[in-house]
Amino acid sequence: MANMMLRTGVYCARCGFTDIPYVRALLLMLMLYFAWSGAAAAEAERTAEIKRIVILHSFGRDFKPWTDYASSIRTELEQQSPWRLEITDHSLVAARFSNENSEAAFVEYLQALFAMKSPNLILSIGAPAASFVQRNRQRLFDRIPMLFTAVEQRNVRTNELTPYDTVVAVAHDFPAAIENILHLLPDTKHVAVVNGSSPLEKFWREEMRKELKPFEGRVTFTWYDSLSFEAILKQASALPPHSAIFWHLMSVDAAGIAHEGGRALRRLHDTVNAPIFSYVDSFFGRDLVGGPMHSVAEGSRQTVSVAMRILGGEKPSDIKTTVVGFATPKFDWRQLQRWGIHEDRLPAGSAVEFRELTAWQRYRWQIEAAALAFLVLLSMTMWLLAERFGRRKAEIQNRSLSLEVVHLNRVAEVGALSASFAHDLGQPLASIALNALFVKDKLSAERPLDKLNEAVGDIVSANAHALDILKHMAGLLKSRACESVQPTDLNDVIVEALRILSTEAQHRKILLEKGCHPGPVFVSVDAIRLLQVLLNLALNAMDAMADTHSGTRRIAIRTAVIGGGDVEVIVEDSGPGIPTEKIDAIFDTFYTTKENGTGMGLSISRTIIDSFGGKIWAENRSKGGAAFVFTLPLSTRGAAQQPAMEPRLVERLAS
Ligand code: ADP
Repeated sequence: MANMMLRTGVYCARCGFTDIPYVRALLLMLMLYFAWSGAAAAEAERTAEIKRIVILHSFGRDFKPWTDYASSIRTELEQQSPWRLEITDHSLVAARFSNENSEAAFVEYLQALFAMKSPNLILSIGAPAASFVQRNRQRLFDRIPMLFTAVEQRNVRTNELTPYDTVVAVAHDFPAAIENILHLLPDTKHVAVVNGSSPLEKFWREEMRKELKPFEGRVTFTWYDSLSFEAILKQASALPPHSAIFWHLMSVDAAGIAHEGGRALRRLHDTVNAPIFSYVDSFFGRDLVGGPMHSVAEGSRQTVSVAMRILGGEKPSDIKTTVVGFATPKFDWRQLQRWGIHEDRLPAGSAVEFRELTAWQRYRWQIEAAALAFLVLLSMTMWLLAERFGRRKAEIQNRSLSLEVVHLNRVAEVGALSASFAHDLGQPLASIALNALFVKDKLSAERPLDKLNEAVGDIVSANAHALDILKHMAGLLKSRACESVQPTDLNDVIVEALRILSTEAQHRKILLEKGCHPGPVFVSVDAIRLLQVLLNLALNAMDAMADTHSGTRRIAIRTAVIGGGDVEVIVEDSGPGIPTEKIDAIFDTFYTTKENGTGMGLSISRTIIDSFGGKIWAENRSKGGAAFVFTLPLSTRGAAQQPAMEPRLVERLAS
């Protein structure tokens, strides 16, 4: 019908037989919806189905290692199951003792339970539970699917397995466990085996004795299975050096006390002074050194995958599994440290857990960030220091250059003046000399007077020429000093002079002092020339103090506005002073007492000060040291008003 409609279209009463494509699409969607809702309903029905699982524990729910298997299996089941699960736990408490008759009541109890609701799967955890199931298979469980897990292969009677049974078995390799101890700690002479005395533990004691026989030449074994746990603790605490402990099981001790969880192992660890090893990783994580061990996680994963297949409908006996051996060895880093076991001794591919992170590993990014910040700061500091150093060097160079310039200036002026003198005075002096010779000749000849008159006339005019030259030179110096005279604040020039002198003074350990009139003191000078005078005087003072080793070396520059519209400037030092008889001579051109002196500094200074309309002279201080004093007329321009008058500085020199 639907096909026909799709092929031919739909009949419409008003408009007749019409082919409408969207009607066909609508029909297709409806069909898809019904198909999907059918599948969804089937899926919902399937997931709504409840699968009942019974977990049979060997000694009780909290006995290691089975408790860890059970909880791991339960978690995996809940994660993987597409069905709703109803899991019930039952513990075979009777397995702790050797009395098999005591399990009859338990069998009856389970019978009553299963009569009400039959489970879809029974999971036995551990050997006692497996053997209990096998003993009561017909009576109790008959056709209920059965999965034996967390059981050593030797504890399963394979010939008694029914078509409804399957096994996820493990294989203990005790020689490998002991070999591990001897490999890590080759000096081991003694191994104490901790084992309980429940039927299962007794079984394993015999197995271990057989399997560990080959080691008897290398180590001695002590078996703790006939002791109460308290006695075990006591004995183990007095173990001789080079001992190790092999923790097998401690479910029920010889005193009949059950030991749940990992508390017994923890107590042993905290009491004894020997490394502890085991073969199940259920005990690993605090007290064990480690080695090849059963992995609870791996065993549980295999168990759950088999359980899923059984719940999905597969026949248990059709599911073939392989026996689970020891997993890759793993070690506790803290225990390796405690017993001084180097990681080189661990088997290749071993895992090392609980490694304590180094400060670097733990705070790596913080350390990196701090180091980066430190480096940035360091480079900035270095850069700033380099910058400062560079600037300071440049400043020092600049100041040294300024001082050098003062000196060169003097030398250059001397040089220039000397050359000029030599050239200009050469002619008149030669002429004077020639004429003098001529006079000498003629005095011895006849009629000398006419010629003599002529020669003396020449001598007079040559002499006048020489004098002109000298005047011209003096005028030249004066005019150079006046090149750019303008109103200048004397304080500014002094501050600049002190700034230039500061580095040299520091170098020569000289204290610079300043005691200037506070306000602006305007004088009409060429600032550069005045600066040259101040530097000249100060440098002379520094030179004079070169051999002064007692007391503080100091140079003071002071100013005072004095009467007559003048300002007085004093540059005084704490040097040896000037010999009284030389106090005027020192201003003479070429007067010097220094090996490399020019004898021009004071002479030029006087010329400069004279050119500014001032006066310069030298005095000795009453307290010792020289004082160079110069005055300058105050400028009427530049200053808003004349600065206030002060007492004269020179008067203070004598006091
Ligand atoms: P130079 O410094 O080249 O010797 P100067 O004309 O500047 O030439 O100085 C002439 C001389 O005056 C110096 O050689 C020195 O003997 C003397 N003199 C200058 N200043 C002082 C001073 N402050 N203390 C003692 N002697 C000085």
